[in-house]
Amino acid sequence: MWRGVIETYRPYLPVSSKTPIVTLLEGNTPLIHSQALSKRVGRHVDVYLKYEGMNPTGSFKDRGMTLAISKALESKSDAVLCASTGNTSASASAYAARAGLRSIVLIPSGAIALGKLSQALIHGARIASVEANFDACLALVKSLAQMHPVTLVNSINPHRIEGQKTCAFEICDALGRAPDFHITPVGNAGNITAQWKGYQEYYRRGHIRRLPVMVGFQAEGAAPLVKGNIITHPRTIATAIRIGNPASWQGAIAAREESHGLIQTVRDKEILEAYRLLAMEDGVFVEPASAASVAGLLKLSRSGYFHSKRIRAKRTLSIVCILTGHGLKDPERAIKSIRLPKPLPPSLSAISKAVGLLRRSSVSSRGTS
Ligand SMILES: *Cc1c(COP(=O)(O)O)cnc(C)c1O
Repeated sequence: MWRGVIETYRPYLPVSSKTPIVTLLEGNTPLIHSQALSKRVGRHVDVYLKYEGMNPTGSFKDRGMTLAISKALESKSDAVLCASTGNTSASASAYAARAGLRSIVLIPSGAIALGKLSQALIHGARIASVEANFDACLALVKSLAQMHPVTLVNSINPHRIEGQKTCAFEICDALGRAPDFHITPVGNAGNITAQWKGYQEYYRRGHIRRLPVMVGFQAEGAAPLVKGNIITHPRTIATAIRIGNPASWQGAIAAREESHGLIQTVRDKEILEAYRLLAMEDGVFVEPASAASVAGLLKLSRSGYFHSKRIRAKRTLSIVCILTGHGLKDPERAIKSIRLPKPLPPSLSAISKAVGLLRRSSVSSRGTS
């Protein structure tokens, strides 16, 4: 039976027999082979989707939160605090509820998806909706954490990074090696930092013989790492990566440099195309930010990046795209990107016409009973 990421990867994590483990059995998420994307990228390429939306609160944040909340409990903290674009608050409030800790959340007012807000509310978080963006909320919680005996559970908390490493472990365990390319959306940059740390640790312990190339994608209007400076007013429809001053800036740059990787941008239009493609061709529903990895995959593929790498490698390449969060987090976006069906009278002919079921003589003769 799966026992959550802490029990599964205990030797790699800073826990002892005295640590009370708070878990919702996070991790063990599916690594799904995508025939549709493999075909789009070209011959001799295998694209896999690591569907982190399948974690208990619907995003990868749970991997870090199980450890951050366990350590907060161990250190006798009585409340946890975070700034959030949505998923951190959803995860923190769920794990805090389970641990019997209070959770306090600062969110940028009007800028988080409804599904995520409902999660924090139902788990009983104290929510301050602040008239400022995420970066300003993060600065505020840092000050609050210095003034009060509460534990900050944003990804500047090193336990978050430690827990999130386990995503890389699972990918290597599933493939039997590291992928050639690891592609991930980048916001506050904790995740790319954690994943690279995970691969490096598996490499040092001899579980893998090669390291992947780390590839990060930011939204064009929120791309401080690509532009090389803080973005004061980050803009993108992908709220989870609408961040102008990433806390793990150095970690992301190190991952890129040490792995000979890339951090590039994708436009919102490309994110939404990838979002629809994943849903329509792979049956995988993600939130917009998550689709940035696949948008980036397709952008690199169009530029010939993988083709030239494959020629040099002389073998089939494996690519893993991280799908960071579930599509149900942001139902408003899904509804905005399709046409809502008009109400119809309960008539067979009207319904058949609307759903494209053409009348055929064989239908009636075959019968349905
Ligand atoms: C948090 C989050 C991100 C960004 O991860 P960082 O560690 O901040 O770079 C991307 N997608 C989703 C769904 C998230 O919740």
